[in-house]
Amino acid sequence: MNTLKDYYLNLGIDERVYDLGESIEENLRERFEAIDRVAEYNQIKVLSAMQKAGFAEAHLSGTTGYGYNDSGREALEQIYAEVFHTEDALVRQQITCGTHALSVALSAVLRPGDEILSPVGKVYDTLEGVIGVREEKGSLAEFGIAFKQVDLLEDGSFDLEAIKNAVNEKTKLIEIQRSKGYDTRHTLSCKEIGELITFVKSVKPDVICMVDNCYGEFVETVEPSDLGADLVVGSLIKNPGGGLAPIGGYICGKRDLIELCAIRLTTPGLAKEVGASLGVTRQLSQGLFLAPTVTAAALKGAIFAANLYEHFGFKTVPNGTEERFDIIQAVEFGKPELIEAFCEGIQAAAPVDSFVKPIPWDMPGYDCPVIMAAGAFVSGASIELSADAPMKEPYAVYFQGGLTYPHAKYGILMSLQKMVEKGLLVW
Ligand SMILES: *Cc1c(COP(=O)(O)O)cnc(C)c1O
Repeated sequence: MNTLKDYYLNLGIDERVYDLGESIEENLRERFEAIDRVAEYNQIKVLSAMQKAGFAEAHLSGTTGYGYNDSGREALEQIYAEVFHTEDALVRQQITCGTHALSVALSAVLRPGDEILSPVGKVYDTLEGVIGVREEKGSLAEFGIAFKQVDLLEDGSFDLEAIKNAVNEKTKLIEIQRSKGYDTRHTLSCKEIGELITFVKSVKPDVICMVDNCYGEFVETVEPSDLGADLVVGSLIKNPGGGLAPIGGYICGKRDLIELCAIRLTTPGLAKEVGASLGVTRQLSQGLFLAPTVTAAALKGAIFAANLYEHFGFKTVPNGTEERFDIIQAVEFGKPELIEAFCEGIQAAAPVDSFVKPIPWDMPGYDCPVIMAAGAFVSGASIELSADAPMKEPYAVYFQGGLTYPHAKYGILMSLQKMVEKGLLVW
């Protein structure tokens, strides 16, 4: 029988790459144990929500057509509401992605003349089109909805004075993005989000606080909805889908707001009553069941990578020791050849399409070629191990995911291996 090390060597990992990985990992034991404890807490939270909802085998089969009386869909929405500690939830495969979920929520609660305020700087790229910060057909701007943004201060804290001044009688909704996404600011903790919400509500009590929760679910034991958020929104092909959800988005929050979201997603009069689950409830619920440990695996992979590449002097964001509030890891490699090698390694370690060589291409919506690595069971699922890098200064790779820690570790070792093979690292 092969030893584990033999297996790695047979898969093309050099002995010294393997050995370095082992020594880096050795130093991360305590960190990993703390992550496992968060995962355990969240696992029990999800389990107890399922039991409380009386989740049953009959809920897994699903409906077709209009989808009236889809008890599985209703049970799953009850479970989400219980996990996020909200009055209600909308969890649907008819929500096509995270951007769609955010777009549904915004267009559901806003009316002409209303204003959105982002107190945490710029919003996620795709949301700029939805809001109309970037001109786009059908944007909220076309419907007379305005947008204001207040940037974070130099030290990353909230500019409370400017936020207070920006809130006015038209301000209907505050949009708070938890993860930094592809921005350079830090990712917000739930505690920070809670403090921000408390402040904003002290200025204007009836303002709706909505959190873009993408990539943050189950990283902490609390969610933004535990700390005052009226709406939390995210994608099911990220953390909460646990790698099993083939599509979908969720919105959890106050009952009257969720009703408006359901009306916008379907129609006035029909709201939550339609939307056949087509048998997908099994994957959505099993994915939620797995999500706490899958998120933990992705976090461990990100921390392993930060520590491995810091060993070679590269800048990592977050760094190897910082506390984490999302699953995204950035590494600044400074050279195009290095980010290409990194992506080749991630791809070569994939369970699907491992034989493909990623090359940079001109993607719609980007101002330079982008290289991407993904060998995923669900197309584009970024809870699965994946990486992308715009081919421009500072030549940083953003990567995330890993349904299991051993896979994330192997992918990261493979990325280092490719750099070593190409003679790109002095070691
Ligand atoms: C991924 C993401 C989105 C959009 O999700 P899509 O599913 O790609 O449409 C929005 N906000 C943040 C912070 C994200 O990470």
